[in-house]
Amino acid sequence: HRRIVIVGAGLAGVETAAGLLDSGHTGPITLIGDEAGMPYQRPPLSKDFLAGSGPRGIRPDDFFDRIDFRAGHRVRSIDRPARTVTLDDGSTVSYSRLVLATGSRNRVLDIPGIDADGVHSLRTDREAETLARRLDVGGSAIVVGAGFIGLEFAASARARGLDVTVLEFTDRAMARVVSPIVSDYFAAAHRRAGTSLRFGEGITAIARRPGDSGLMVTTTVGAELSADFVVIGAGAVPNDDLARRCGLTVDGGIVVDDYLTTSDPEIMAVGDCANFPSRFAARAVGDTEAVRIRLESEQNATDQGRYAGRRLSSGDDGPYRDVPWFWTHQAAEKLYIAGIPQGGDECVVRGDPASGSFSVVDFRGGRLAAVESVNMPADHVAARKILSAGWTVSPAEAADLGFDLKAHGK
Ligand code: FAD
Repeated sequence: HRRIVIVGAGLAGVETAAGLLDSGHTGPITLIGDEAGMPYQRPPLSKDFLAGSGPRGIRPDDFFDRIDFRAGHRVRSIDRPARTVTLDDGSTVSYSRLVLATGSRNRVLDIPGIDADGVHSLRTDREAETLARRLDVGGSAIVVGAGFIGLEFAASARARGLDVTVLEFTDRAMARVVSPIVSDYFAAAHRRAGTSLRFGEGITAIARRPGDSGLMVTTTVGAELSADFVVIGAGAVPNDDLARRCGLTVDGGIVVDDYLTTSDPEIMAVGDCANFPSRFAARAVGDTEAVRIRLESEQNATDQGRYAGRRLSSGDDGPYRDVPWFWTHQAAEKLYIAGIPQGGDECVVRGDPASGSFSVVDFRGGRLAAVESVNMPADHVAARKILSAGWTVSPAEAADLGFDLKAHGK
């Protein structure tokens, strides 16, 4: 029997196993993850979980009875000629095919005081539990980074009545991924909720506040801010060391081709750790070549994992081409993104931001490239359908709210 070994029991790893089972793979499947307990979803950790919802599993517990699931074990090394992986307890497992789904980890800022008590990050269920308990206490928080996770945490903490200040080194919210219109809309919503947002201001040091258990934060403009605790949301870096050490090509993530296969044909990589070519990431106008990208999203981890499972089971899937999409909920505001907004050559706004629901539609070379929908779920669904079929609409049509995106596109 062909044993498939999957390293990493996050969303991408679990969905690889599900893809294998669903497409009829009958050989053994070994899923190895270094976190204790059953695999869980991360997106709720910065949202409902902090409001008391409890953890959410990726799959029901009995799913894992169907495979050889080893929780709490880290893969230490890969021997490619021997086709084995070695675990932290010294045991080895042989594979006929290997899938790396090692995900990403939070970036650690290199500043004095980053290890102090009361400085938190948010990626795992344990970190979320610690922060949920911190929210029960109340008080004040400084959030470093106005990316998705920082802002989701800020919204959750503010909703629980804490004083929240967000420091962001760039000049706008979620700058890496959304258009300035959407950044401004979300910044205004957070400010209306009472969160203090400080753009163009980063963190340079953290120190204990004299006399109590709180913290003092020094910023790049020389300000000194006091808070009961600090949450760092400064982005993530791919877990690609294991791949690098066994000689696979790595470049800001594990480099894979159109079939999510690494530089070793027996090894695939999926999810947050994979650097893959995507035609949705083209930057230049008229550029139809796929551009390399690494995405950190639920869609990417799910679809790439399921693709890998199908491909390893039946071997005959075409290239991976699923439309990238992303979502974030911050208090009552819901943003859905289809495609990859990169500031195309033409951008139209559909609807009025002042009304609280609108979409920003990006065109590249005259074709629909990405749609950011704020509280406009129907536009998001239509955009995914249009992008997936390779259709387009014209900028004039997109700008006309009376034009039903769902019913059109060619
Ligand atoms: P991971 O979830 O990182 O899983 C990888 C697993 O592999 C980890 O458990 C890791 O410990 C393990 N591992 C690594 N190396 C080894 C090794 N050598 N041996 C064994 N195990 C190993 N996305 C959205 O689209 N919308 C959202 O609203 C959203 N919210 C989010 C909120 C938070 C707080 C976080 C952290 C993420 C959020 N995301 C969201 C992103 C989304 O959750 C991730 O993109 C997705 O979970 C990635 O899945 P993955 O399996 O690729 O990686």
